[in-house]
Amino acid sequence: MTTTPATLRSDLEPVELVQGSDDACPADQLGTVPLAQERAFAAWQQDIPREYLHLPAEELDRRIRRARERLGERLVILGHHYQRDEVIQYADFTGDSFKLSQHAAAQERAEFVVFCGVHFMAESADILTRPEVTVILPNMSAGCSMADMADPDDVLAAWEEIAEVVGEHVPVVPITYMNSAASLKAFTGRHGGLVCTSSNAAKAFAWAFERGEKVLFFPDQHLGRNTAYALGVGLDEMALWDWRRPLGGLTPEAIRRARVILWQGHCSTHMRFTVDQIAKARAEHPGVRIIVHPECRWEVVQAADDYGSTEKIAKVISEAPAGTVWGVGTEINLVNRLAKQHPDKTVFCLDPVVCPCSTMYRIHPAYLAWVLEELAEGHVVNQVRVDDETRRWALVALERMLALP
Ligand code: SF4
Repeated sequence: MTTTPATLRSDLEPVELVQGSDDACPADQLGTVPLAQERAFAAWQQDIPREYLHLPAEELDRRIRRARERLGERLVILGHHYQRDEVIQYADFTGDSFKLSQHAAAQERAEFVVFCGVHFMAESADILTRPEVTVILPNMSAGCSMADMADPDDVLAAWEEIAEVVGEHVPVVPITYMNSAASLKAFTGRHGGLVCTSSNAAKAFAWAFERGEKVLFFPDQHLGRNTAYALGVGLDEMALWDWRRPLGGLTPEAIRRARVILWQGHCSTHMRFTVDQIAKARAEHPGVRIIVHPECRWEVVQAADDYGSTEKIAKVISEAPAGTVWGVGTEINLVNRLAKQHPDKTVFCLDPVVCPCSTMYRIHPAYLAWVLEELAEGHVVNQVRVDDETRRWALVALERMLALP
């Protein structure tokens, strides 16, 4: 198969949103349309061959299935919970980033791992799989805006400034959320820290406090704050590090006093959830249970009945009795899927106009068809590869996480 670079923008077709308004959310028309019509999310990888732009859903489905068959056991497809249904249906394993990292590590036979998720997840899969395994991200522009908020140079500068203020004798343990670049995972490995996900953040903090007096947590302030608070760290013992300002915008005294220093990063998708939405849900659905993701603001988590990773949200709802009502604060693709899987319960998203995570949404079935067909022809496109030195230290940090009790 040849790959002819496409001039994508000229191939874009006009698209009508079903609600007919300029601000209608593309989540309202979820369902596969040809890639060329998805201009609402038009941060596409530009070199996908032109022929894929206009393929209808049925043709993409047929081609994906045929390429998978040809690749057989040489291929494993991983799908994050936030992927659209039209993509996740092809996944051999689904889960949150923690569960998927375990699946990646457990692959003994596969030659290729195609990761339907975002860039940092594919990097982690490359680190955790055998060196001969090739990890592929169907669309290289599927990144994570939160991960992008922690630049490795800024983190290193913060690390040095904090050490200067508190002194070398005060041990500071760095923890990075899985949603970060491989270079930051390596940074934590090199400096006695580890990686965590929203499934195991509490254990990671407990691990860090056994080894140090302070934690520097990046890039998501909200996961860090919610986790530390649940472990008994007061809000007045946490400081927020604004990487754009000298000393993070803090006084030396505030840095010395803080037990947890939080990076000023956030997830735009989870920032949409508010305390008002929870109050409205409670008023409209007496008896509703509210469950949210810990990337939501602290006050939202406090107002909810429960919180946890996507895995936990899925488990709690699946195990709940029939007839229960759930207001959920996480990404819309997962909420919609849970609602479909549990027709005996009422499951709805707290934000009525919430949009999908726009970067997760960049994995259109056309990209999956493209990378699989190329693989079946013996060509690797969109390989995600972490260099050996970064891999070595990132693996140290990831293995500390995987060894948590
Ligand atoms: S939901 Fe938020 S944290 Fe997750 S990939 Fe999207 S932007 Fe990143």
